[in-house]
Amino acid sequence: MANVGRALRAEDRALIAAAKELLRQRYDENRHTVAAAVRTRRGAVFRGVNIEGIHTPCAEPVALGAAVAAGDREFVSMVAVCRRGKQYPVLSPCGNCRQMLFDYAPHATVIVRFRDGRVARLTVAESLPGA
Ligand SMILES: [Zn+2]
Repeated sequence: MANVGRALRAEDRALIAAAKELLRQRYDENRHTVAAAVRTRRGAVFRGVNIEGIHTPCAEPVALGAAVAAGDREFVSMVAVCRRGKQYPVLSPCGNCRQMLFDYAPHATVIVRFRDGRVARLTVAESLPGA
């Protein structure tokens, strides 16, 4: 997968930083282990954390829902982060969350981390071939 995806831009790094900041603040090993951030066309950033429980929603739909609740659903980019010790690496969104973003904005960007640790951006449509 070395040639898949495009290099991160400053706004992608800022989105990752926003998710990391939230997880630093709200991390709870029993409840909240992932944070997500989404950027909308007007430049607003909405964030969310996962909620461990019987159904355990991912952080991404919580962030997307926060944006929709604010009346802003023109998504342009999405990222999630987890915690590994003192690090907050990018966590590639699961297939369900990619599909959810695709349903709103197939040209939006999703930030992913490959197995070799490389972080890049893809359009969500590229990340779901044939969707
Ligand atoms: Zn997910």
